[in-house]
Amino acid sequence: MENSYDLLILGGGPAGLAAGMYGARARMKTAIIEKGRPGGQAATTEELENYPGFGPGTTGPGLTQAMADHAESFGAEFIKDTIVSLELTNNPKKITGKKGEYFAKAVIFALGAEPRLLNVEGEGKFRGKGVSYCATCDADLFEELDVAVVGSGDAAIEEAEYLTKFAETVTMIVIHEEGKVDANQVSAERAFKSPRLKWIWNSTVKKINGDGIVESLTLKNIKSGEESQLPVNGVFIYIGTVPKTELVKGVLDLTPHGYVFTDEKMATNVEGVFAAGDIRDKYLRQVVTAASDGSIAAVAAERYIHDRELWDREVLKAEKPVVVVYYNPTDMEGTEKAGLVDRFIEENPDRFSLVKVDATRNELVKTRYQIKEEELPLVQLFVNGEVTAAINQINIENLKALLS
Ligand SMILES: Cc1cc2nc3c(=O)[nH]c(=O)nc-3n(C[C@H](O)[C@H](O)[C@H](O)COP(=O)(O)OP(=O)(O)OC[C@H]3O[C@@H](n4cnc5c(N)ncnc54)[C@H](O)[C@@H]3O)c2cc1C
Repeated sequence: MENSYDLLILGGGPAGLAAGMYGARARMKTAIIEKGRPGGQAATTEELENYPGFGPGTTGPGLTQAMADHAESFGAEFIKDTIVSLELTNNPKKITGKKGEYFAKAVIFALGAEPRLLNVEGEGKFRGKGVSYCATCDADLFEELDVAVVGSGDAAIEEAEYLTKFAETVTMIVIHEEGKVDANQVSAERAFKSPRLKWIWNSTVKKINGDGIVESLTLKNIKSGEESQLPVNGVFIYIGTVPKTELVKGVLDLTPHGYVFTDEKMATNVEGVFAAGDIRDKYLRQVVTAASDGSIAAVAAERYIHDRELWDREVLKAEKPVVVVYYNPTDMEGTEKAGLVDRFIEENPDRFSLVKVDATRNELVKTRYQIKEEELPLVQLFVNGEVTAAINQINIENLKALLS
């Protein structure tokens, strides 16, 4: 089928790029669908100095371009398209973009996150006319002008420092008490020493004002309730991000804040669908953890495709009824019991075929047939792809009854 892949990666941020590199290197036919230029949020920061091995002087666009080149060098394909809908429970999985339809045996969902909006008057009206969420993209437009940065997390502080290279003044609007910021200590200490940053504490933006372009902010002091005007030409908003999971609501299990639940192999609740990067429910959202997630997801996806194809061929599409024994290789007693089944099948070679599955490793069957490790060893009889009988007390009598 045209546009058919082993692995489709949705989103070309650090998670998607790392997944693309691992997927293509494992010789899967791999494509990354990205609506813009590869790099994601990381490509919107000029100062990215905490990716191991790449210290000060590293830029987000530079690092992510290297990731994209790396993925491409192993054969990952890049498709420029905006994904608009997903059919993830089918096989193959179908991804619809504005420009085309794409099919895959496994999917890695890595659409990342987008800036959280302030949701105040003027924000939408002046977006691109003084309201920005990306210093790398827009800083040079504010050369020798006055700007404000809203927020005090890592991104806010780092981007504010970058803005000081262009703007005449950079004023931080911080909701916390004086001296308290959300950024890590190293960044915070450096920012406090910067003579080019000004600070307004205990304050939020109530309104963004202007005539065609941004001219001032109406600030509110949350302690005193007092309002004031801050004349600025631009405002950069860094108050966190929200995950891009609207396309999978009701399909993938999400946290109340909309992040995708995964297990440690990045598997979601839907078979063959993995999630990686900022879109996941996790502790630390950074480039290094996104790349780590992507690599795990790609390896797990490869394993899934392999297990699934084997299972389809040897069990679901087998001509004869199949006796499947699920076992745990570290349980000696259970493994010996599983050996009884071997002998039984050897005596009836024409009637049945035998498939043995290490159920501690095969996630696909474990999830699909809800096999619990404490119930191992377990035997199931498959006829025409369906489970027709099962036993978990393996002895000659039960086997005879099962296979009679
Ligand atoms: C300003 C800023 C500074 C940062 N600084 C650092 C730092 O110094 N160090 C650090 O480690 N981390 C930093 N981060 C965090 C880091 O960038 C993220 O953790 C990382 O980019 C997450 O990668 P991701 O691949 O999960 O998602 P993203 O980077 O969000 O990538 C997702 C990709 O999916 C694409 N996409 C979304 N929707 C669609 C669609 N419908 N169709 C097609 N494509 C789509 C997007 O265009 C995007 O390219 C910073 C973030 C920001 C915003």
